[in-house]
Amino acid sequence: MTTLTKIDLQYEKIASGKVRELYRIPGSESLLFITTDRISCFDVILETGIPEKGAILTRLSSFWFQLLQARIPNLRTHLLTLGIPPSLQTIRHLPRSNHSPFAGNQDQVLYEEIQKRSMIVQRLKVFPIESIVRGYITGSAWASYKKDGTMHGVTLPEGLQESQKFDKPVWTPSTKAEQGVKDENISPEEAASIIRQTYPEDYTEYAARIEELSLAIYHEASVYAAERGIIIADTKLEFALDESTSPPSVVLVDEVLTPDSSRFWSAEKYEVGRPQDSLDKQFVRDWLIDKALKGKEGVKLPREIVERTSATYIEAYEMLVGEKWRDEVTFLN
Ligand code: ATP
Ligand code: MG
Repeated sequence: MTTLTKIDLQYEKIASGKVRELYRIPGSESLLFITTDRISCFDVILETGIPEKGAILTRLSSFWFQLLQARIPNLRTHLLTLGIPPSLQTIRHLPRSNHSPFAGNQDQVLYEEIQKRSMIVQRLKVFPIESIVRGYITGSAWASYKKDGTMHGVTLPEGLQESQKFDKPVWTPSTKAEQGVKDENISPEEAASIIRQTYPEDYTEYAARIEELSLAIYHEASVYAAERGIIIADTKLEFALDESTSPPSVVLVDEVLTPDSSRFWSAEKYEVGRPQDSLDKQFVRDWLIDKALKGKEGVKLPREIVERTSATYIEAYEMLVGEKWRDEVTFLN
């Protein structure tokens, strides 16, 4: 298993996030959307990557895009194709990753490593909010409720317990802060007013559509995941506007329903009234706290933590998709 945390292609870079690298594809309006094996915890990127994580997130997102499109009428997503199209031959001549000691034909190996972590997506203007849906009260929502009985500026009924299921899933947006700045929970009205800054005419409609789609996605995904023993406690989605259609359409973008963007709980182990272990970076978070390294830069993870985290991402993939994880490239080329 290879770990790919740094990519430096000679294309025009559109964005470099905590986990992803986005490049413009020459001669096209589409983007090369590469998910690396980087892992961030408490908003800091760690020095050590998680083997195959980028490939797992890529395939899991694409699985969900297909499932959701089949179940939600008129849902549009940014995914065009999985992998790198054969037409992108020039990528073979790009420098290899500066940290992986590849054997053999190094450019070819790198090509395959990038290939399985890549999607070609439509380049769109992303709405500057994180569209969160919560089915259970946990995380920052639980912290805020405990403090003053509210969640995202909305008052909740008294007497809720930690990890309790809401009567109905709730749309709880947050700001989409720049790297290094914490996202802030906001009310639906505040979300609409952020959208208004860019779209003063149609902001109510766009906010309503984002809410409607988010709740539909959460609903379909939760029903599906429940059949596979997983509770989706909450999830974060991103949407963008495609202005090339008439009228413009709200499109689901970024990653969807992965362990990085969602809290997945084991249905079997779930118990109200306490925190739950989630199928994600829990081991890393616990280890960082234990070693007093929370929020520190340049942290290297021990092998055991890396292996357990990688196994957890694979477990989430296998439970949700219902097939064994295989790390070879099985699409295109
Ligand atoms: P995190 O998700 O952990 O907050 P991040 O926000 O820094 O990390 P990454 O996931 O590493 O971001 O990078 C993905 C970036 O690409 C995000 O800024 C996202 O809004 C943007 N993006 C996603 N899909 C598209 C798209 N179709 N067109 C343009 N930008 C996109
Ligand atoms: Mg992201």
